[in-house]
Amino acid sequence: MILIKGGTVVGPTGPYQADVLVVGEQVSAIFAPDQGPQEGDFETIDATGKYVIPGGVDAHTHMELPFGGTFASDTFDTGTRAAAWGGTTTIIDFAVQRTGEVVQDGLAAWHGKADGNCHVDYAFHMILGGVDDESLKAMDTLVTDEGITSFKLFMAYPGVFYSDDGQILRAMQKARDNGAMIMMHAENGPAIDVLVKQALERGETDPIHHGLTRPEALEAEATSRAIWLAGVAADCPLYIVHLSASKALEQVAAARDLGRNVFAETCPQYLYLTLEDQLGAPGFEGAKWVCSTPLRSKHETHRADLWKGLRSNDLSVVSTDHCPFCFKDQKELGIGDFSKIPNGIGSVEHRVDLLYQGVVDGKLSLGRWVETIATTPARMFGLYPKKGIIAPGSDADIVLYDPAARTRIGVETHHMNMDHSAWEGYEIAGKVDTVISRGRVLVKDGAYHGAKGHGQFVRRGLSDYLI
Ligand SMILES: [Zn+2]
Ligand SMILES: [Zn+2]
Repeated sequence: MILIKGGTVVGPTGPYQADVLVVGEQVSAIFAPDQGPQEGDFETIDATGKYVIPGGVDAHTHMELPFGGTFASDTFDTGTRAAAWGGTTTIIDFAVQRTGEVVQDGLAAWHGKADGNCHVDYAFHMILGGVDDESLKAMDTLVTDEGITSFKLFMAYPGVFYSDDGQILRAMQKARDNGAMIMMHAENGPAIDVLVKQALERGETDPIHHGLTRPEALEAEATSRAIWLAGVAADCPLYIVHLSASKALEQVAAARDLGRNVFAETCPQYLYLTLEDQLGAPGFEGAKWVCSTPLRSKHETHRADLWKGLRSNDLSVVSTDHCPFCFKDQKELGIGDFSKIPNGIGSVEHRVDLLYQGVVDGKLSLGRWVETIATTPARMFGLYPKKGIIAPGSDADIVLYDPAARTRIGVETHHMNMDHSAWEGYEIAGKVDTVISRGRVLVKDGAYHGAKGHGQFVRRGLSDYLI
């Protein structure tokens, strides 16, 4: 048993003073201050001056993802350990069916990578790289038998993951029937490929051209098209991943104003980093920030609009899209041709901190911080109330967060398997102090007490937000 005493518990509705009793792997009770057990066989953790929040739920990671002839550099071991250090106690990773593969084989491969290697609990979405009769049937099986209730489709990457509009519509109709969530990578891939080819022909090979050939219009158009298609599929639940641009957000907001089953996430990189300052860094340096959707221009309204969207709930979730590649030998594959740079940024360790900075900056309330990093992703993807909340009967996934401390981010101190940091030199208010996963202390007093194999696969139910 653990008694977390003297802290300020923060839930999605805001902060309150309380003591939290953990018995075994679950939260047993929440007490008014000092009303809990006075003595007994339990460890007391002093949370005075700290926020006591539910462990973070990162609904978008790619450990060991094969991409562009290489693999994302974090394994399930290193990536979930880094997540734990950063206060994230559940990840939802993407199992992959590549075009021509059997869905269940792809899923089995991802179970093989993760099983026994994770430090925190994990679940899977399924990427459908080929929508056909077989994979549509597999969607039903995954929902009913495997605890996988969300499917990612791509309007980008022709020849790799791309689905055409007919395939998308069929998958959406299936999801409407079985209650699954369709997650959409909303960028117009065929149009982007034309722009990429033209840029390379002009000799524009630097990393910044990755961003310039993926203009906002092609994200907004794809987002809009996905929303219209979901409407044709009787308002199938639709979740836009890694939304980066103001005009894409406008599409989502308009659909939500109409009461549609349309949701969206953004990622820390779009809230803070820009096309000019990072992707446009001199020489090949900008390769560190090549991700899709791309970083947007600081001269436009994107970042302010995304923060506003988080406040207004037009954006429901902040995930990382954690997809790390080392600079040496991986990002370097794209020297002389930006289109060969593996796409991805590693942030799984920093999301809780980076969003707390939004609280310090007056952009989010404490309750909204917890909601966007933990409660809503848990509810969105069928993990609630096991995850995402501190409540009797919920898993004891708990973070003590110290608002008086500071976090300095960089390659010397991070735990991700990367030879650089997209956030090098960022110094932010607040610090993850203690991390508990299903009743086990993983991080305390700057030391790591977790182990791979502690993290378990979690079967998910349907989204809480379905109408
Ligand atoms: Zn994507
Ligand atoms: Zn992704």
